[in-house]
This record gives sequence, C-alpha cells and structure tokens, in this order.
Amino acid sequence: AGGQNAGALEPPPQRRVVRLTHPDRLYWPDEGVTKEGLADYYAEVWRRMAPLVVGRPLALLRCPNGITGEKFFQKHAWKGLNPKVALIHDPQETGDAPLISINDLDGLMGLVQSAALEIHPWGSTVADWERPDMIVMDLDPGEGVAWQAVIDAAQEVRQRLRDAGLSPFVKTSGGKGLHVAAPLQPAAKWPAVKAFTKALAEAMAADSPDLYVATITKSKRRGKILIDYLRNQRGATAVAAWSTRARPGAPVSAPLAWSELGPEIGPAYFTVTNIPTRLAALASDPWADFRAAAAPLEVKGRTGGAGA
Ligand code: ATP
Ligand code: MN
Ligand code: MN
Repeated sequence: AGGQNAGALEPPPQRRVVRLTHPDRLYWPDEGVTKEGLADYYAEVWRRMAPLVVGRPLALLRCPNGITGEKFFQKHAWKGLNPKVALIHDPQETGDAPLISINDLDGLMGLVQSAALEIHPWGSTVADWERPDMIVMDLDPGEGVAWQAVIDAAQEVRQRLRDAGLSPFVKTSGGKGLHVAAPLQPAAKWPAVKAFTKALAEAMAADSPDLYVATITKSKRRGKILIDYLRNQRGATAVAAWSTRARPGAPVSAPLAWSELGPEIGPAYFTVTNIPTRLAALASDPWADFRAAAAPLEVKGRTGGAGA
C-alpha cells in the first residue's frame, strides 16, 4: 500500500492535490457542512461516482456563498477555473467557450474549490458526444402526490425499460422525486434516444391519464407525476448519482437498490451527513453493475418524419 503504482489494490483516493481556500466556509449552514466537509464527502464516494461523471460534459450549480446565497447554473468554463478541471469543446459548437469535464478526483476537488454544489452530467461522453450511454427518466411529482405513487411510477418505468431490453437503476433525486436511469451501449444517437423516452412517457400518460403527464405544462400537473423525458436530448443534463444538492439538509442524489424503495427512504433522505454510515453498512453498491449492464437501445420501428 502507499506505492505510486496502481496495482490490484489501489491506494485510497488522495484529495489534497487541489488546495481548498476557505475550507471552513459553510456551504450548508443549516446542516453545518463546510467546503472541507464537501471535499471529504466526495473523496469517500469517488470510486462509486467516477464512472458516472468522468469524461462527460458537466453543468454545475455554483453557490459561492453556500446554499443561502446566489446560485449560478453554469455550462461553460470560466477564467480562473482550477487547472485540474478539463476544458472540452463541443464538436457542434465550434468557436463557443469550452465546456467543463473532469477526469479524476482532482478534477472533482477543483469543482469543490469552485463551489460547485451540484454536478449535472450529460447522458453522453466526450468519447462519443452523439451517442448517449445512459437514459434518465426524471419523475417529478406535482403538488399533493403521495410518495408511494412516485415509487409506483418508478416501478412502471422500470418495467417498460426492461421490456425494451434495458437494465434500469433507481436513485433519489435529492429533491422531490426519483430518477430511473438505464445504461446504454452508445449506439443510437440523441434523436432516436429522445424519441424512445418520449414515447415511453407518452405511453404512461396515455395508459394512466389520472396519474401521469408527459408534458411540462404546470397547470396540468397538479396531483400527477410528470414523466420528464427531456433529460434525454443533446445538451440536457440530470443531476449525477452521488452529487450533492444545493438545498437545505445537504441532500444527495443517492443510488438505491430497487428493494429499498419504500416509505422510509424519501427523495432527500440521504445526505452528506448520513451517507458515510450508509456506505459502511451497505453489503454491496446497488449501482456497482451500472456500466456493465449497458445494453443497446433497439429502436423499434420509425418515429416518422426523420428523413434520410
Ligand atoms: P427534483 O426531484 O426536485 O425534481 P431534479 O434534479 O430532478 O430534482 P428538476 O427540476 O426535475 O430537478 O430538473 C431536472 C434536471 O434539469 C436537473 O437535474 C438539471 O440537470 C436540469 N436543470 C436544473 N436546473 C436547470 C437550469 N437552470 N437550466 C438547465 N437545466 C437545469
Ligand atoms: Mn426531477
Ligand atoms: Mn424535471
């Protein structure tokens, strides 16, 4: 242990390469979580988080003064960004300002140093910008929806994704809902993947119009769950598994086993504070097989109109 060579047993992640200024700054004052506390959290979850964030365009929710201060949803790199953060160029946006990516824990620490309290990756990687390697179905309960109904929606999305030959996983959003994610072998391009997720959302809404809607019209959402498929289009993002949320209580978007869904675990149940206990208690990581479970999306039939 402790050698420089990455052998079978890798040394624990070293997070001190990036210097944190103002480590005692309170990012979540209500929960007493500081910048340094955030860095410790990410060092702890890094091995699990890495396959879900490395090598992707990232949008960030930056909160230089913590969650009670101003928030910026930022997609482009800026001057003074830590050099451990990678700058990447969208091949379809030549001449545009670079986008943001990370390759390792140092990069993530660079984001912590920049007060990125939420990390929102694309569903494709810089190795293949046009072919997503995951789908995220974002379940957004409207006012008055019971938690069990959100769980039921997640189970229905799960079944429909399985019917399409995919392997769905579930996580809390750290906010109000659940996200059902399915890893893809990068094959189908963005428009086909979007069409597939749109058809899935619309089928759910058509089959259970009292429960689900597939369009974001606010007035129609009361008492229903929006099956938000729009995370699945080029340039769109969804919060990363393990990312913290800039909301009270320092919640995180926590990967779950399907069997854990129930009344005890609400959408913001897991936090920076209680995740270490969860990790210590978990027999196995419920998302350990996420990448290995990737399957190609078999797009059945044509969605029409897409000529050539
Ligand atoms: P909740 O469970 O509360 O809905 P959520 O993360 O799913 O949490 P949504 O409002 O449903 O929140 O947003 C879905 C995704 O849209 C976010 O995870 C994020 O990646 C993206 N998003 C959020 N804010 C913005 C924004 N200002 N501009 C563009 N995309 C955003
Ligand atoms: Mn949501
Ligand atoms: Mn949404």
